[in-house]
Amino acid sequence: MRLFEAIIDANHRALAGDQQAGLRPAEFAGELPIVALSCIDVRLNPLLPEVLGIPKDQFIWLRNAGNIITGPLSSTLRSLALACAIKGGKEIAIIGHTDCLVGRTTTMVLIDRLRALGIERQMLPPNVNEFFGTFSSERANVIKAVDIVRRSPIIGPAVPVHGLVVDIETGRAEWVVNGYQVLELTGARPGAAGAAGPSMDSLGSPGNFEIGEMNFPNAKIGDTATKTEDWLSGRVQPSPAKPSPPAAVQAKPAAPPRIPVPPPLRPRFRLYKGRN
Ligand SMILES: [Zn+2]
Repeated sequence: MRLFEAIIDANHRALAGDQQAGLRPAEFAGELPIVALSCIDVRLNPLLPEVLGIPKDQFIWLRNAGNIITGPLSSTLRSLALACAIKGGKEIAIIGHTDCLVGRTTTMVLIDRLRALGIERQMLPPNVNEFFGTFSSERANVIKAVDIVRRSPIIGPAVPVHGLVVDIETGRAEWVVNGYQVLELTGARPGAAGAAGPSMDSLGSPGNFEIGEMNFPNAKIGDTATKTEDWLSGRVQPSPAKPSPPAAVQAKPAAPPRIPVPPPLRPRFRLYKGRN
């Protein structure tokens, strides 16, 4: 049994009431530490370490709003790469969660919230969705993020990249992308450099993914904002000629004016009894 097979097995056993369930980290010394990217949702603070059940000193924890990855050379991906190269991370997990406020916030509501903070619409890039990488499906967001990481040229081709979605209420982990299976399909083996993913050069024309430059969401960057300094200096303006997407695609119409308050935190979430 490999590390994430054991993690998922222990998680499901514990939730089914198995008092003996738990991960034995010593059996997976060669697969630890792991590098995880999760959302900033504070409900995950006590929950996620329990869900994974691995020692704190074997858990490299990166976070951003919505566990969003905007591009194969984005800032978050550079941190993932450094976490593997410098901190010795052996496997990567992108971990989404149910009831994610980033996923439940429509573009219209987000623009309203930003306006309330003094940020007018014209100060934002035209493609607000792409810019922030917002999503409507936590599961799809995780699958997309895993795919970007897997294809990134700065992630070792033999590093397993997993995708999980955690139920914020129960702590149940769903393994939506099995990074081991993906490696088997691509034929990557430890030490087999270049076995998967594109090269840096193949990632497109300059302006899409330039090291040292802010990387606007990778999908259609060339159409809209190009370089950070251009946008900030006003040389790139939102294009009035660019038609808006159809209303049905743009966002859910008649967005609710209020975002429900998340349920209260669980002060002492404990999945594995007797562990610290
Ligand atoms: Zn979230």
